[in-house]
Amino acid sequence: MTKAIQDLSRLCVHTITTKPWSLAEAIAGYQKAGVQGITVWRPHIEPIGNEEAAKRLADSGMTVVSLCRGGFFPAETEAQRQANIDDNLVAIDEAQAIGAPVVVLVPGAVPGMPLEEGRRQIADGIAAVLPHAEAAGVKLAIEPLHPMYADSRSAVITLKQANDMAESFKHAHVGVTVDVYHVWWDPELETEIRRAAPHLLTFHICDWRTPTQDLVTDRGIMGEGCIPLRQIRGWVEDTGFDGFHEVEIFSEEYWSVDQQEFLNRITKAYVQHA
Ligand code: ZN
Repeated sequence: MTKAIQDLSRLCVHTITTKPWSLAEAIAGYQKAGVQGITVWRPHIEPIGNEEAAKRLADSGMTVVSLCRGGFFPAETEAQRQANIDDNLVAIDEAQAIGAPVVVLVPGAVPGMPLEEGRRQIADGIAAVLPHAEAAGVKLAIEPLHPMYADSRSAVITLKQANDMAESFKHAHVGVTVDVYHVWWDPELETEIRRAAPHLLTFHICDWRTPTQDLVTDRGIMGEGCIPLRQIRGWVEDTGFDGFHEVEIFSEEYWSVDQQEFLNRITKAYVQHA
């Protein structure tokens, strides 16, 4: 039996979860709610720049857990593939600037491109940016996405595929992200989480609503859906993982309500259901 959550010391919130807030508002709101970890999405840095974002985060004393997101490597043309690689180099610089130890990679896919070719291009893209990541002291986390996104967002759709890819690099700066929304259905999940132990970098939580109204922006708060979250957290922690539990919720519904109240619901649900 996995032990219940005792406090908020390992709770992290993604800035996309409170999308209407600026970075400054998110920092203030999270601290008011007792949240100590923050994963910063690039659109929240963009309006103020790396330096200002870094200063605000450092002044807050919060733990910067990771930067979201890099990846999206596959493309139809060589020029676009290079542009994608260049954008990942910038993301690595941003992570280094704000003190984020990890860049999470949404691998990417091109509609109509065979998934194997997509995975080949993803691995090539990671290889191309890896020296820069290592020099910056930033790790790269491959996040497998739910198969419903295999058309356009990720040719990596199981934790097994992400583990295979991470292991192929044999490099301390390449690992994986486990996001319960994407992998909860997988019959191999327990085995693959155990296998990910040496390179499990980050852990994302939320819930799967039934019926899901939108394939991207209808994620639920923990306890609202059918994901066996505590069981999965138990598997993750059995590996020795002692990092943050990161709440990542894309939701048109929750983005339209008072964000501080939404955050209070998140902290309550986290203690109750995570
Ligand atoms: Zn995620």
